[in-house]
Amino acid sequence: MAEPVDLCIIAEPSTLCDALVDRLGREGYEIRVAKTGPDGIELARSDPPRVILCDWNVGDLDGTEICCLLQADPITADSYVILLAEEYTSQACARVLAAGGDDLVGRDRPFDELLSRVRVGIRMWNLQAGLKRTAITDGLTGLYNHRHFLNVIDSEFARSRRYGSRLSLILLDLDLFKAVNDIYGHQIGDMVLRQVGQALNDSVRDSDTVARYGGEEFAIVAPEATLAQAEELADRLRQRIADIECPEEMHGNRITASFGVASDEDSHVDTASALVGLTDQALYAAKRTGRNRIVSCAQLPGLVETGAHDPVEVEQLRRQVASLSVQAKEAYVQSIWALVQALEARDKYTARHSQNVTFFAEQIARRMGLSPALTRSVRLAAMLHDIGKIGVPDSVLMKPGPLTEEERSILRSVPQLSANIVDHMRILQAELPMIRHQHENFDGSGYPMGLAGNQIPIGARILMVAETFDALTADRVFRPSRSVGEALKEIRTHSGTQFDPKVVEALASCLEEQEAGILEYIDSSREALKSGMPPVLAAMMKD
Ligand code: GH3
Ligand code: MG
Ligand code: MG
Repeated sequence: MAEPVDLCIIAEPSTLCDALVDRLGREGYEIRVAKTGPDGIELARSDPPRVILCDWNVGDLDGTEICCLLQADPITADSYVILLAEEYTSQACARVLAAGGDDLVGRDRPFDELLSRVRVGIRMWNLQAGLKRTAITDGLTGLYNHRHFLNVIDSEFARSRRYGSRLSLILLDLDLFKAVNDIYGHQIGDMVLRQVGQALNDSVRDSDTVARYGGEEFAIVAPEATLAQAEELADRLRQRIADIECPEEMHGNRITASFGVASDEDSHVDTASALVGLTDQALYAAKRTGRNRIVSCAQLPGLVETGAHDPVEVEQLRRQVASLSVQAKEAYVQSIWALVQALEARDKYTARHSQNVTFFAEQIARRMGLSPALTRSVRLAAMLHDIGKIGVPDSVLMKPGPLTEEERSILRSVPQLSANIVDHMRILQAELPMIRHQHENFDGSGYPMGLAGNQIPIGARILMVAETFDALTADRVFRPSRSVGEALKEIRTHSGTQFDPKVVEALASCLEEQEAGILEYIDSSREALKSGMPPVLAAMMKD
């Protein structure tokens, strides 16, 4: 939107008026001048200024009458009005304020005083404009919010009725977006929403209004667009969204959206809310006929006649497919699990490490209230987190003494090696970032990328704590295991630096609530190691 002009001066031609224009102009203000009251009001209406400086006597209208007229008109009501009086008196000031003006200055006052009051006026206007902008802006995407959308659709509908022009509306809803949050986390979901908002804003005309209609729903109000033109626009937007390069954490996975389009050409549209309702029906039809598509209101009767797809059936099928893919993933990881264990069996001291980390990570994830899908991902990531050890020579893995710098660097490459292996399994894309970032420290001092805080995938933050807890409680070459309490104490010392405090506290809460169960697990794990019993796969694989 164009910036408003700073100042409008309403004053009959005089030396005083010339002097004001000259001196305020030298202060850098952009100024418009009107010579009569009615001209001034017209000028303020056509290009509402931040501040109006109005002489008390301008022809037939006196200053307070001008204030009343400016105040009564919504277009000019926001301008800050300063009246110039012969002299300042408290009675005159009271009259100005009662008439809706904002300030009064005596002509006898030094110019600097007038200048200061103009500055106050500009500041007040800017402040008010900022607040107004905030009230109509969506905090996440920077687009207009739902409230503003309703105002725009109402006023555009009235305008299109008045001038007999067209008005179209597009509503779109991101497809299966819940899964994006479940798998990659809300922060990634929020980043995607911002990207979508930006893409939409970049693709429409200036006269179109893009708003965030709801959570992952957006609206585009397109004045003077026919239904056919709105359909074309929707198709461009659909393509644009499908082309978005989502955050790196999504590993090339993309998003799509479904669109409903309607215009006031439809005979059912006799109010703005009827237009919204019809567009919403079209959007719903786009969802139930397959997603990533556009349905216009003109197609709706056909869809109803043919019955399209039964939404309940489609939903059932969707759930079945989702559940199948979960099972497929489980089966996949199970088949690799034997390999992980064979690898670990090379070193009797860490033979049950992955199994233990998996157990602790899953307990922590549950305790943190992660969604079932995310908890499953954390478990699978834990099972595979050390698979990269296949690339580490036994001499390093089982070295009894301290490691050289080179050996340490080989061990440091395990997360990346594990991630490289998992990267080839397309089905495990959600687990990949958890594995890759398992050694990132909460304060940013870890590796491989030095991510910090919430930038580190939650699964990776959990793995870090689970892995350390296992390392401290299991028997090792150099030292006997520590008690659960000692291990927690040690971990707490590094809470906030190495570990995410929330994860540490979730572990503490697990230990508090299920101490007996966890002790029993640790004991049985140690026993199993001693007796060389094969790990109990079945117990691990059950949900
Ligand atoms: P459909 O294709 O049927 O639209 O599936 P969906 O999963 O997108 O639909 P549903 O309405 O079931 O879920 C919408 C999800 O959008 C729920 C919520 O997880 C997500 N969402 C809504 N608002 C926000 C937000 O502000 N940030 C994030 N990250 N996610 C949001
Ligand atoms: Mg939705
Ligand atoms: Mg959706």
